[in-house]
This record gives sequence, structure tokens and C-alpha cells, in this order.
Amino acid sequence: MKVMKFGGTSVGRPERMQQVKELITKGDEPVITVLSALSGTTNALVSIGDAMAEGNRELAKENIDKLEAHYQTFIKDLLKSEKGYSRGKNIVSEHFEFLNIILKISFSEALSKDILAQGELLSTKLFSAYLEENNIDHVLLPALEFMSIDADDEPQVATIRQRLSALLSQHKNKKLFITQGYICRNARGEVDNLKRGGSDYSASLIAAAINASVCEIWTDIDGMHNNDPRVVKKTRPVEQLSFEEAAELAYFGAKILHPASIWPAQFYKVPVKLLNTMQPSAAGTLIAEQAGSVGAKAVAAKDGIISINIKSSRMLLAYGFLRKIFEVFEKYKTSIDMITTSEVAVSVTIDNKIHLKQIVKELEPFGTIGVESDFTIISVVGNEISQTPHILKNLFESLEPVPVRMVSYGGSKHNISLLVPSTEKTKTLQLLNKGLFGLD
Ligand code: ADP
Ligand code: ASP
Ligand code: MG
Repeated sequence: MKVMKFGGTSVGRPERMQQVKELITKGDEPVITVLSALSGTTNALVSIGDAMAEGNRELAKENIDKLEAHYQTFIKDLLKSEKGYSRGKNIVSEHFEFLNIILKISFSEALSKDILAQGELLSTKLFSAYLEENNIDHVLLPALEFMSIDADDEPQVATIRQRLSALLSQHKNKKLFITQGYICRNARGEVDNLKRGGSDYSASLIAAAINASVCEIWTDIDGMHNNDPRVVKKTRPVEQLSFEEAAELAYFGAKILHPASIWPAQFYKVPVKLLNTMQPSAAGTLIAEQAGSVGAKAVAAKDGIISINIKSSRMLLAYGFLRKIFEVFEKYKTSIDMITTSEVAVSVTIDNKIHLKQIVKELEPFGTIGVESDFTIISVVGNEISQTPHILKNLFESLEPVPVRMVSYGGSKHNISLLVPSTEKTKTLQLLNKGLFGLD
């Protein structure tokens, strides 16, 4: 059995859904198809939730109506038979009635998750209606019955496996399953989600849970590129990445993959393929245990980074100092991305400022604390990169005009990270494109 996940743009237009139908019905192997919401929908649902949180129900209502109009047009183009269209109309009515009812209830965090879930529920139900109209036998598997996160908001593959196997065993002779990406239930049994871009994570968790032969991530580009195509003009796809390389790129900002989406596939040894729905014959990128080749393969950028510097002469020749500092971050469940130390100072970076004030307050007894924001981590990723001849020379020669603030080298064999002011991000990515990949 394999998993095929289609992102927002891959299902965002009626003709794309037709393409998805072709792709999932091609082979003989049973398939679990994971769908995102139609492109733009989750953003619209976020703004509906935000308007409600601010008490601006008029704006929320306006946005709900706008989104509903979009879906009304969508089903007209997607479902051509009378029966199919009337089914589509019922699905759209059901979900927009729900949103209109929510509008009257007092707003809460749990309610906002219910709002966000409507996108994937709509896309999968409409796609199922479309398959039905085309007489394609399939089963719609409700993700809310098997995808879950625990009290620490972490998904557990064993639990997902147990629930999903039970569902699948009710449909032993079926070969095509459709389910929602992104949405899940939390430990309190409420509707929740795997954070933005989370359908990739759903796909990888499902692939791990069923020991899939492959987890295919179908999107709007032909694989992982060597640089961010939203920032740099000339980029090219990378043929193969190891799980470690892909995980680093995803974590450090390559939007094509959710930051956590690689570990389930890696742990359960399921190869991942990144493929292009708009160009299905393109090779894409294979992510597997083997890296395929050595040297710098790609760079990625992660914005919104805060640097915290702790300076103290008490650090000199003292032991246990770093532990005490790390304990503060642990207490506030704030993970550190980069760290550099000197004999009298330590600098760390974080990407989550929710507890910044408390963290700084608790660090103050250890020394002088400096906080600076608006940084970007640039990660250069590649197998055995630290052993690649002249890599540091090339890197620093290319980046001569950039005021690099921190460097992390040697922590892993396949990553070199640099901290730069966010205003320098575009320039840095462009210079690296030329300096490391010879692309102008
Ligand atoms: P989907 O809706 O299919 O999940 P996403 O928008 O989440 O698609 O991810 C695909 C997008 O990721 C691409 O269109 C591209 O702009 C962006 N992206 C950022 N970095 C990279 C990269 N290194 N390689 C490929 N795509 C990237
Ligand atoms: N629809 C969700 C989002 O836009 C999940 C996803 O697309 O992966 O974030
Ligand atoms: Mg995505």
C-alpha cells in the first residue's frame, strides 16, 4: 500500500482534481490519498477565526460568505451530473451552515480549531463526490477517527496505527482510500491540527503507521530545489536526499515539507518522493536512507529568529553553567536552534517568542542578557558537508559582503548554519546560489 498526498494547489481547481483522480487510479497498488484544503482556504479560515477572536463578527461573516461563493463556483465546474452537483451543494451547505452557527457561539481556542478543520473536510468530501460521479470505487476515511496527538501535542505512530488498522480492516477488499491531511484529535478529544502545512506530516505518519511502500508528496514544483524558488530566480531540483538532509531542510525553512514531516518516514524506513502534480513525469526528489551524493545540495532560510546573548565572567572556568541556562529554556518548552559559546559568553537562537520575557527574567541572575530579533537562519545542507574540501572557504568568500552574526559548524555532518539579519536574507541566498551551486 502507498500514500499519495496532494497539497492545496494540487486540488485548488476543478481540473486539478481531475488530474489527481488520474494519478491515484493509475497503478495496481492500494492507495491512501491524503488531501489538503483547496489553496487559499486555510488562510481564509484563519482570517475568519481572527476576526471572531477580535469580536468582529461582521468581518467574519463577510469572509465566510466570500469563501462560500468560491465553493459554489468550484462545485459547478467540478460536478457535472445533476446528482453529483446536488451532492456537492449539500456538502457545501453543511459546512457553511456550521461556520454560520459558530459565528453565534462565544469564541474559544477549541472553536478556532473547528473552524480550521473545515478546509480539509470540504476538499475530501467534494473529491469523494467527484470520484463517485465518475464511478470510482473508494472509501472516505475520517482522519478525526484515527489521527491524534497526545497531551504534549505529539502524534504517536503506535496509536495511529492501531486506529487506522481497525478502520482499514472494515474495508478489506477496497483499494482506494481518501482522507484529510492536517486535522486530528487532541488528548482532550477535541478537533485539533498538526500546524500549518501539516498535511505532509499526516501523510508521513500514515505511511509509517501502515508500513507503506512509499510516501508520495505531490505539490506544485518538481521536488526539493537547491534554493528557495520564492527568493532566488534560478534553482534546480535535487535528485536524492537522505532523511537527515531532508529533515534539516524542512526544519530550516524549505516550505515544500512540514518541519516535522520526515521523522515518521525515517523511523519506519518509508522512502518519500516529492513529485509535481502539474508535471507528473518529472523525476522529483527521492528521500531515502542513502544520500546519493556528497557535498552542498541545498540551502534554506528560516525567518523570525531571536538571538539571546548571555555574558558573564562567572562562566570562566566554571562548569554546569550551560546546564543552568538550558534548564530555563526547557522549563518554558522553548527549543534552541543555534548555539555558540566563548569562554565568557554564550549566544543561542530561538524561533518562539511566547515566553521570551520570562526566559530573559530567569536568565538575568547568570549575567548580562542581550536580546535581538529579526534574524534569519541560513542552512547549507549536504551529506558529509563538513568534510567537503574548501566548503568553508567557498562559503565565506561568497558571503563576504554579508554581516554574518553566528556560525554553527560541526554539530552535524550535513549542516552548516549561519545567522544573518533578515534584511540580508535575499542577498545571502542569492550569493550562495552563485558561490556554492554556480547558478546566477
Ligand atoms: P502544498 O500546498 O502542495 O503543500 P507548499 O506551498 O506547502 O505546497 O510547498 C511547495 C512550495 O514550497 C513551492 O511552490 C515553493 O515555492 C516552496 N519552496 C520553498 N523552498 C523550496 C525548495 N527548496 N524546493 C522546492 N520548493 C520550495
Ligand atoms: N491546509 C493546511 C494549511 O494550509 C495544511 C496543509 O496544506 O498542509 O496549512
Ligand atoms: Mg505544504
